[in-house]
Amino acid sequence: MDFRSDTVTQPTEAMRIAMANAIVGDDVYGDDPTINALEIWAAEHHGFEAALFTSSGTQANLLGLMSHCERGDEYLCGQQAHNYKFEGGGAAVLGSIQPQPIQNEPDGTLCLKALEAAIKPDDIHFAQTKLLSLENTIGGKVLPLAYLKQAREFTHKHNLQLHLDGARVYNAAVALNVDIKEISCYFDSMTICLSKGLSAPVGSLLLGNKAFINKARRIRKMLGGGMRQAGILAAAGKLALTEQVEQLKVDHENAQLLAHGLNQLSAFDVNLEQVQTNIVLTSVAEHINMMQLQRDLRKDGIIISNGNPLRLVLHNDISKNDVYVLLEKLAAYTA
Ligand SMILES: *Cc1c(COP(=O)(O)O)cnc(C)c1O
Repeated sequence: MDFRSDTVTQPTEAMRIAMANAIVGDDVYGDDPTINALEIWAAEHHGFEAALFTSSGTQANLLGLMSHCERGDEYLCGQQAHNYKFEGGGAAVLGSIQPQPIQNEPDGTLCLKALEAAIKPDDIHFAQTKLLSLENTIGGKVLPLAYLKQAREFTHKHNLQLHLDGARVYNAAVALNVDIKEISCYFDSMTICLSKGLSAPVGSLLLGNKAFINKARRIRKMLGGGMRQAGILAAAGKLALTEQVEQLKVDHENAQLLAHGLNQLSAFDVNLEQVQTNIVLTSVAEHINMMQLQRDLRKDGIIISNGNPLRLVLHNDISKNDVYVLLEKLAAYTA
């Protein structure tokens, strides 16, 4: 039972069969029918002109940023944004793109007033602000649809592009009980991780218009991300989007179960308002030795991260019963 992340999910049985039987070709030549079919289907399904299969979410975000921005341009993002904080500074290192982070609000949004103040005037002293990048879900929290609409109006008004790091955007759609297009419709570009809660072994998608995706395809090759018989991966990726979205609902229910269970234990404290999808953040009482806790749980076949707040993530390979087992073990620490 691995609660560290939803990236630990094993491919489903159906994925393994589809991978074994995938018809493949050399995708750098554009010859992989399974990749081509996934890209065409994904573009249509999410309301974009084109799509690109990438090796990871990090690569998809980097391609997105580098396709929107040139050297010396700037993108606005959250201080907690994955593509600012957790991607090795890739946009700056590899794209010469300057990030302009803004403090995230408690609900994960970025204050439009603060963003407006951060846009650089057209003056030779400044980088040129080109893009706003949002993230949904962010820390397991869902950005409200009304906010997305405001962000779209804001970017139109200021002539900025709007990108969504949608690594877990399906968790947002499931939590809101809306079609994915009700979220994607606001963005010029969007990424989706197929390898998190959706259980594919490898891969993400970048979505956008044709010119944007053509540019991203060129940069992907430059960065060494051109893959050959990658249809093996796309076969699983297609099933991630067609077969695994329903599972997210179960993951969200299990997250609620875990969060409420933790709040019954004196050593743990979860802000339930923040538990909106498959991620539970709990503070841990001072007297608990996290290293010891980690080691003890490991002996029982339970893997958790180390941290306070402690992040616990629900996914396809964690059942309701597993949640009860974890809660029972943690109860012993609370005495
Ligand atoms: C995981 C994640 C990524 C990066 O995906 P990788 O496939 O791990 O590179 C990007 N953005 C967000 C919000 C993520 O959670």
